[in-house]
Amino acid sequence: MVAKVVIIGAGIAGLAAAKTLYTTQNSNEFFELCVVEGGNRIGGRIMTSEFNGDQIEMGATWIHGIEGNPIYKIAQENNSFQSDKPSECEEGELSDEEITITEDGHEVNSSLVESITTFFKKMIEFSEGEGDFQDGIKKIIKCLIIGVENHLKKVFAMLENMHRHYSSAGDLGTLDFNSASEYSNFPRDEITIDKGFSTVIESLASFLPDGLIQLGRKVTKIEWQSDDCDLKLENGDDTQPVKLHLRDGSVMFADHVIVTVSLGVLKQGIRDDAAMFSPPLPSFKTQAISRLGFGVVDKLFLQLRSPSTQDDVGLTFPFLQTIRPEIVSPKSPLMD
Ligand SMILES: Cc1cc2nc3c(=O)[nH]c(=O)nc-3n(C[C@H](O)[C@H](O)[C@H](O)COP(=O)(O)OP(=O)(O)OC[C@H]3O[C@@H](n4cnc5c(N)ncnc54)[C@H](O)[C@@H]3O)c2cc1C
Repeated sequence: MVAKVVIIGAGIAGLAAAKTLYTTQNSNEFFELCVVEGGNRIGGRIMTSEFNGDQIEMGATWIHGIEGNPIYKIAQENNSFQSDKPSECEEGELSDEEITITEDGHEVNSSLVESITTFFKKMIEFSEGEGDFQDGIKKIIKCLIIGVENHLKKVFAMLENMHRHYSSAGDLGTLDFNSASEYSNFPRDEITIDKGFSTVIESLASFLPDGLIQLGRKVTKIEWQSDDCDLKLENGDDTQPVKLHLRDGSVMFADHVIVTVSLGVLKQGIRDDAAMFSPPLPSFKTQAISRLGFGVVDKLFLQLRSPSTQDDVGLTFPFLQTIRPEIVSPKSPLMD
């Protein structure tokens, strides 16, 4: 019997699942596949775009470690690392000489930023259960002795923002540091994709025949009935236990669904008023969905009139950290 499988979402997860199933040997003897995507394009949180003539990534940019990374493999097979077009970010190196500049253009004393940064890092390591405070505490005492205690929390706020960026946490106070420390990159370099992250999406989709992905097909409800359920679905032969309701009012039947919608959509979906799943998901799943949190990671693209006076600007990686100007007046001990 051929099982009908519907994959919800045409982001990288949905497309990877579709490609894997579709390219399985003799798959058409086992599955009839369909991907339903609520939006009007594939890729989800991956979208290569253009800004003033330059290629930019609206979503994912980095391959976090190339060794054994399936995304790297796909990009390599598609020659996606060769492009003449300028891209958002080359394999950037952090400059040895880091400078921290306030929003109104003042340079902050680097040794103080370094001391506070060391303390902050030690504190994070400690929270993740692998560091000790000694070295960090010494550095922070040095800061206190020279009288910058009023500014500590401001530099801390900057470092906290950076850590929230890496961890995507909305609030470090709610972050489970032990669990967060389980996250690890693939080994070796972290790189960007010269021809754009969307080439990985296009590659996955290229294995699928026309019409297999349906755009503009937002699923509003997933109804499932087990074998022992009295209620029969009105799908003619009663053999397909899943009924999908779509926003356009249509319904689809399936034997299996693979749900690849984002955590935010799941959070909304398990709310009583949304009732996306019928019957509701088991409590261990709804509890996990509720407990997992996330913050906002936004991108800001700036066009600068002149890149820099430095010759090696192409090799440096500008990193935007913010210290609000009102906290560091030119007379402040934070300033050089
Ligand atoms: C700004 C930003 C920067 C990032 N940077 C990186 C990076 O540098 N490196 C990295 O590895 N990762 C990065 N990520 C994370 C990465 O983009 C995601 O982890 C990945 O794209 C998620 O893929 P997915 O398929 O799981 O989900 P999604 O891409 O969210 O795909 C889910 C799809 O489901 C669809 N959908 C939702 N609800 C429904 C519904 N009811 N019915 C039908 N379809 C529905 C959505 O429209 C979407 O297309 C970044 C993310 C963002 C937002």
